Amino acid sequence: MTGWTRQDIPRARSAVTEPVAAGMESFAQAWASAIIGTSYVPMTKAEVVDHLRGLTELLVEALLADTFRTSAAHEVGIRLVEAHFTGTETLDRTIQLMGDELLTELGRDTEPHLRSRIAALQGSLSAGYAQSLRERTLDEQEAIREAVLDARDHAEAALRASEARFRAVFAEAAIGMGISDTDGNILEVNQSLQDMLGYPASELRQRNLRSLMHPADAESVWGFYEQLLHGERDHFRVEKRFNRRDGEAVWTHLTISLVRDDDGQPAYQVAMVEDVTDRHLLQNRLRYQALHDPLTTLPNRALFLERLSKAFDGAAGTRIGLCYLDLDGFKVINDSLGHDIGDQLLVAVANRLDESVAGDGRLVARMGGDEFVILIEGSSGTQSIVDIADRVLYSLTGPIRIDGHELSVSASIGLVEREINGTTSADLMRDADITLYWAKADGKSRWALYDPERNAREVARFTLSATMPAALENDEFYVDYQPLVRLEDSKVLGVEALVRWQHPEFGRLAPDRFIELAEETGLIVPLGRWVLRQACRQARRWLDAFGDATPFVSVNLAVRQSRDPALVNDVKSILEEFALPPHLLQLELTESAIMGTADEPLEALRQLSGMGVRIAIDDFGTGYSNLAYLKHLPVHELKIAGSFMEGMRAADGADPVDAKIVSTLVSLAHALGLTVTAEGVETPSQAERLRKIGCDSGQGWLFARPGRPDQIEVLF
Ligand code: C2E
Ligand code: CA
Ligand code: CA
Repeated sequence: MTGWTRQDIPRARSAVTEPVAAGMESFAQAWASAIIGTSYVPMTKAEVVDHLRGLTELLVEALLADTFRTSAAHEVGIRLVEAHFTGTETLDRTIQLMGDELLTELGRDTEPHLRSRIAALQGSLSAGYAQSLRERTLDEQEAIREAVLDARDHAEAALRASEARFRAVFAEAAIGMGISDTDGNILEVNQSLQDMLGYPASELRQRNLRSLMHPADAESVWGFYEQLLHGERDHFRVEKRFNRRDGEAVWTHLTISLVRDDDGQPAYQVAMVEDVTDRHLLQNRLRYQALHDPLTTLPNRALFLERLSKAFDGAAGTRIGLCYLDLDGFKVINDSLGHDIGDQLLVAVANRLDESVAGDGRLVARMGGDEFVILIEGSSGTQSIVDIADRVLYSLTGPIRIDGHELSVSASIGLVEREINGTTSADLMRDADITLYWAKADGKSRWALYDPERNAREVARFTLSATMPAALENDEFYVDYQPLVRLEDSKVLGVEALVRWQHPEFGRLAPDRFIELAEETGLIVPLGRWVLRQACRQARRWLDAFGDATPFVSVNLAVRQSRDPALVNDVKSILEEFALPPHLLQLELTESAIMGTADEPLEALRQLSGMGVRIAIDDFGTGYSNLAYLKHLPVHELKIAGSFMEGMRAADGADPVDAKIVSTLVSLAHALGLTVTAEGVETPSQAERLRKIGCDSGQGWLFARPGRPDQIEVLF
C-alpha cells in the first residue's frame, strides 16, 4: 500500500475528500519520522508508515465524523503499544504532532470546534496508550516474579544459576525493583528504583517501605498491603504516588509480590515500580485542555455538560439553576474593532463573571462565541438565581478598557431554576435557551425568568403560525360582518368584514390571535386577499337582494398588503369578477400604514381611490397622525378608535378631554370633507353625545355585534 487514492476510500466516508486524503498521507509520513528511533520496533520505515497510515485514518475519521466519539483514539493508543512503540518519547511526540500538524495538514486549522476535538482525541489516545502499556508491564512483572519464585524453589545446585539469572534481571531491569522483609525494611533496591526515588541504595536500605508511601494514598492501598504482610494475598497492583527525596511526587504503577519460605510463610516482599509520572501529567494536562476554553481559561461546554449531568445525582428535592448569558451586540464590536479586541473583551467579561459569581456549587463556563453559562448546584430558590443575574448584569455596567477603547457591554440572561426531579439536563438547556431569547426579545440588557405559561403561549403561537397556510386551503376561515350605522336615522351605511378562524383544535379564534402572526409570516397577503374576495362576493349577493339599500363592505387592509405591488390589480380583478361597483368597497388602513409610508403604497391608494374605492383610516387617534397631512391623502373616512368611547359615556361619567378630542376630530374631518365613524359604541348615551357632536356614523355592540350575513342583513 502506498498512499491513498480516491478508490481506496469507501464511498460512505464522505468526509474523506481529495485534500483530506493528501493531508492524511503527509501526516502519516511526518508521524513515522517523529517516532522512528524512539522505540525499538522490528519494522522497516515503509512498514511503520503503513501502520501509521491505518492509525491516521482512524483518527481523521473520528475527527471529522458528524457525531464525535473519542473511542477510535483510545484504540490508536492501544495499537501503538501493540506494535511496540513503547519508548518514553513516543507518546509525547505523537501527542505533540497531533496538536501541531494534523489540522494544518488537513487544511482545517481555522475551525475552533476541531481544535477542541483534537484535544479530546489526544486525551483518549494517551489514556489508551497508558492502559495498554500498563497491561504489558504487568505481564513483564509477572515474568520477573516467576524468576524470583524459581530462585527459591530450585534445588541447591540450580540455585546459583537461578540466582545469577535473577541478579541480572534485577540489576538491569528498566523497571524499579526493591526487596524488603516482611516488616517492610528495605533490603535491596536496583538502580532504576534509586533513580526514580532520588535516594542512593545505602540510604534506601536504612528505610522502611512505609516511610516512602505518599500521605494521600487511598485507604485501599494500605488494606492491600496489610493483607500481603499477613500472607492473605500473594500480590497486588495499584497506581500510586511516592515521595521523592527532593519532595516531588512520582506517579507509579506498583506491584508488590510476596515471596514465601519453604514452609509457605511470608519471607520477603518484592516491589516492582514503574514511573508513569510523565504520562500522568500529560493526561492531566490533556484533560484540562479538553475541558477548558483556551481563550478565557473558563470551563468549556464539555465540562459544563459533565457537571450538569452529575448535578442530577443529588438527593430528591435538590434544586438547580442555570443562567444562560449572551452578550448584546458582540458581533458589532467584533466586526468593527476586529477579532483581537473581540477576544480581549471576552476575556474581560469572563473575568467579571467569574469574580461576580464564583463560589461553592457555582460553575461559570463559556459555551462558545459570546455565550456563557452559570450553573448553580443546590440552588436555594428562584430569588437566589435572580440575585445572581442582577449581580452579573451589574458587574458588566462599568466600561471595559481595551487598547485605548472604552467598550461598554451588556448581556441578556435566560434564567431557569427548579427541582432536579421531574426535569432533565436537556429540558433545562432548552428552557434556558428559550428564556434567553425572551430576554433579548424583551429589549436586551436584562434577565428573563422561565415561565411555563409564556412558553405554552408561544408554543401555541408557533403551532398556529405553522398550521395557518393549510387552514387557508381547508376553508377554516370565515368572515363575520358588523354594521356601520348612521347616527341620524340608524340606517346601515356599511358593514365591516371581520375574519375569524374556526380552528379544528382550539375552536373559534378571534383575529387578535392570528392576524399579527400572519403579518409576521407574510400569510396576511393571501389571507387578506381571501377576505377581500369573500366580502366582495357577499356584497354582490346583497346588491342583488337589496339594490340601492345595499351598504358598502369595509375590508381591513394590513400594512403588508398595502405595500404589496399586486394590490391594485387584485382589487380590480375581484371587483370585476363580481361586477361590483367600486363605491360599495371601502378599505380600512391604520394611521401608521398610511402616514409615513413611501410613495408607492400611496400611489396605489391614489389609484384605488381614483377607481372609486373608498379609503378609511382605522383606529384613528391611537397613532401619531400629522393632521395637516391628511388633506394630501386619498382618504374618505376617519374611524375614531374605540378607546375614546370610554370618555363619551353619560355626562357625569364622561371624560371632558376625550369628548373634546372627539369633537375636534369630527370638525377637522368635516373640514377636510371626510365622513366620521365612531367605533366601539356600546351605550345609547355614547351614541347620543356622538350624534350631538356631529359624528356621522357609529359601529359597536349598541347597534350589532359582528355576525353572520343573515343575522346582519335584517338590519338593512
Ligand atoms: P378593528 O378593525 O378595530 O375591528 C373592530 C374590532 O372591534 C372588532 O374586533 C370588533 O369585534 C370589535 N368591536 C366591535 N364593536 C365593539 C364594541 O362595541 N365594543 C368593543 N369592545 N369591541 C367592539 P375583532 O373582530 O376581534 O377584530 C380585531 C381586529 O383584527 C380588528 O380591529 C382588525 O384590526 C383585525 N382584523 C379583523 N379582520 C381582519 C382582516 O380581515 N384583515 C386584517 N388585516 N385585519 C383584520
Ligand atoms: Ca377595522
Ligand atoms: Ca378599528
